[in-house]
Amino acid sequence: AGPDAQHGPAYVVACTNNKGGVGKTTTSVNLGSVLAAQGNRVLVIDADPQAHATANLGLDTPDYEQEVKKSLPHVLRDQVTLREVIVPVRPSGLEVVPSCLGLSFVENDLISDSSGPLAMREKIVEVKDNYDFIIIDCPPNLGQMTTNALLACHGVVIPTQTEYLASLGMEKLLASIAKIKRRFVSEFQILGILPTMHDVRLHQHQVVLEHLHTTFGNNLRIFPPIPRATVHGEAALAGRAAFEAEPDAPGASNLRVLVDTLVTERKKRLEVINAA
Ligand code: ADP
Ligand code: MG
Repeated sequence: AGPDAQHGPAYVVACTNNKGGVGKTTTSVNLGSVLAAQGNRVLVIDADPQAHATANLGLDTPDYEQEVKKSLPHVLRDQVTLREVIVPVRPSGLEVVPSCLGLSFVENDLISDSSGPLAMREKIVEVKDNYDFIIIDCPPNLGQMTTNALLACHGVVIPTQTEYLASLGMEKLLASIAKIKRRFVSEFQILGILPTMHDVRLHQHQVVLEHLHTTFGNNLRIFPPIPRATVHGEAALAGRAAFEAEPDAPGASNLRVLVDTLVTERKKRLEVINAA
């Protein structure tokens, strides 16, 4: 399919944090499903060798060595096009680029390639006119795939648990992201920090949430927290995003604030493009 008159060009979002288990994948698949349910065409790119977004959206994790080479590492190795590996999932309008463990081998290739950091950006050009949003689910490190995602995106969302230990290191993470932006003279912006798995009844969680506001709130948006709820794990088990399975699940209105921000940022970008 060629460029779609109704859709595109895509606003690209990277969900990133060097820590694991902070809600990157859950945020990516939920954003994807809510945006798609609103009528947008959305592509989630699973950029983590653990392939959790792939699984969370109901797909079997491809085996890197299998006959049918249809996942992100095969794309980055130029064995297939990005378009060829895209799989539609629920709800209608949401599609996925699956990942698999082989992505970690490809990461090493990219390091020794001078244009390696821009590989994902180049691949996205191929499909960006077909989507309204592309969401990249990053691995839990600041390695080559995360650099690739940052250099391919327009906006960055940083999910973080409101647990004391999970929130440590935010300053260093922000400094590392800023360094990548400077070094590559890139223009992405950090849209904000998304507190996740928040339990208002826990004093510890409240303290960490307040700390996020007082420490980073002046320079960065702190989005309303996504509450801890069992629906996320259960939906993942069923191969669905929680807000696809249950649009009114706890936190729906809070997630909506982030969704609205993405819609607004996309509009702003389209205005700039159209004015040029
Ligand atoms: P990451 O991608 O950063 O490693 P995940 O999104 O996979 O983090 O989340 C880690 C675990 O926490 C998963 O088992 C997920 O289902 C669960 N989880 C994520 N968000 C929530 C939430 N709001 N409430 C309860 N569990 C959650
Ligand atoms: Mg993940």
